[in-house]
Amino acid sequence: MYNLLIFGPPGVGKGTQAKLISERFGLFHLSTGEYLRKAIDEGTELGKKAKEIVEGGSLVPDNIMIGIVKEALIKNTTDKGFILDGFPRTIPQAEALSEIFNELNFKNIHVLHLTADEDELVRRLLNRGRGDDTEDTIKHRLHVYEDATKPVIEYYDGRTIIIDGIGEIEEINAIILEKLKDLG
Ligand code: AMP
Repeated sequence: MYNLLIFGPPGVGKGTQAKLISERFGLFHLSTGEYLRKAIDEGTELGKKAKEIVEGGSLVPDNIMIGIVKEALIKNTTDKGFILDGFPRTIPQAEALSEIFNELNFKNIHVLHLTADEDELVRRLLNRGRGDDTEDTIKHRLHVYEDATKPVIEYYDGRTIIIDGIGEIEEINAIILEKLKDLG
């Protein structure tokens, strides 16, 4: 059983790795970015509220995100565990998540932190070409990451597993699996 959080700047490949890890271990995978993009595509109430924010590369308000994650964790957890991808992204989200873990009695949370330098990230994002991958939005998202999300990594200080996110998808995945094995 693994209960995992995966962190990293935009473009580092956290979504790709989260998917591979969840498939390998049968984990419940929640990507908050994907969840929001789906709501936007479907034109739900949430989608309407989130559209401009997501397209501009800013953060959707904490109370909305915390509600989504709490509900999803209550509904979908199995004895195999979960991986949260893109949450928490702010200190209030991290604090709320700790409370949720306490309430639901989730233990042994491990934090994977994928890293890459900024030039590589910009290059990858421009190649990916998602709706929020324009040059200005990329700059803004990297800035938001530095400002709001980096402090969250410090919040989990001492509990993070740092992984170099530069390289082939399979190589990086193999490194992650090796590190997870060490956790027992
Ligand atoms: P991602 O797919 O993780 O790159 O997320 C895409 C976008 O969704 C972000 O740029 C934010 O606008 C929004 N988003 C995703 N997760 C969160 C979160 N935890 N808090 C606030 N906004 C989020």
